[in-house]
Amino acid sequence: MLEIKNVHAQFVDTLILKGVNLTVKPGEIHVLLGPNGSGKSTLGRVLLGDEKYNKTAGEIIFNGESFEDMEPNERAKAGFFFTFQSPPEIDGVTVKDFLFAAKKALDPEFTSSFKFKRGLQETLEGLRLPAEFVDRETNLGFSGGERKKVEMASLITLNAKCAFLDEIDSGIDIDTIRQIGKTLRKFLTDKSKSVILVTHSDKLIEEVKPTHVHIFGNGEILKSGGAELVKEIQTSGFDAHIKRQSSLNVLS
Ligand code: ADP
Ligand code: MG
Repeated sequence: MLEIKNVHAQFVDTLILKGVNLTVKPGEIHVLLGPNGSGKSTLGRVLLGDEKYNKTAGEIIFNGESFEDMEPNERAKAGFFFTFQSPPEIDGVTVKDFLFAAKKALDPEFTSSFKFKRGLQETLEGLRLPAEFVDRETNLGFSGGERKKVEMASLITLNAKCAFLDEIDSGIDIDTIRQIGKTLRKFLTDKSKSVILVTHSDKLIEEVKPTHVHIFGNGEILKSGGAELVKEIQTSGFDAHIKRQSSLNVLS
């Protein structure tokens, strides 16, 4: 579904991604673990096609099609979804109107506002958000957890194929993590979906049960494996991996 091949990218003059390779197939859930500032969010931005980040080498293929000349909205139409680490406020636009407009933009044939409202209410219930939430201005005055829940509700409403979730757990309480995990598990019962999850939360990892775990450091994937890598990081931290990698680079 998603193939990231040797992607290099820079922000202004600084090279941040130094050759990322990752293949994500339908039904897979990939967790990216890595220290702050290692380039995880930059990878998400490059996948999204944020013009502030300049991809200097490599290729991104999504469902057999290159992302190269595709605008962010075209990538979204193809089924790629990205959650913001800090979701923006959208003054004057209610959650309901925002999501309905986004849904119609992705699928012009979608016109059933009844079906839309029912689906959205169900999703919000699963996330323990009150029904009145749909009439509030998007993210205005929302708590951190509420913003993250709205991001999750967008993912479900827009029915994306592949989602990059950037620290959806940051700053939220344990019950919210559980509700987000549950919503994510439900999303993934459709085996045509896949997720890349950037997280620091052991609890969320436990909830979603990843098929693949990657240690990300210094702009690249240093090691890939399964859930055992989470334990390894819990005991030894990231430093050991990053140091080992840099000494290997010096040797080669
Ligand atoms: P992570 O998500 O792993 O914490 P980021 O991708 O956010 O890391 O950042 C990687 C590096 O790129 C950091 O050194 C960060 O300061 C820099 N960077 C990324 N985006 C920006 C930006 N918009 N403005 C300034 N620096 C940025
Ligand atoms: Mg980040």
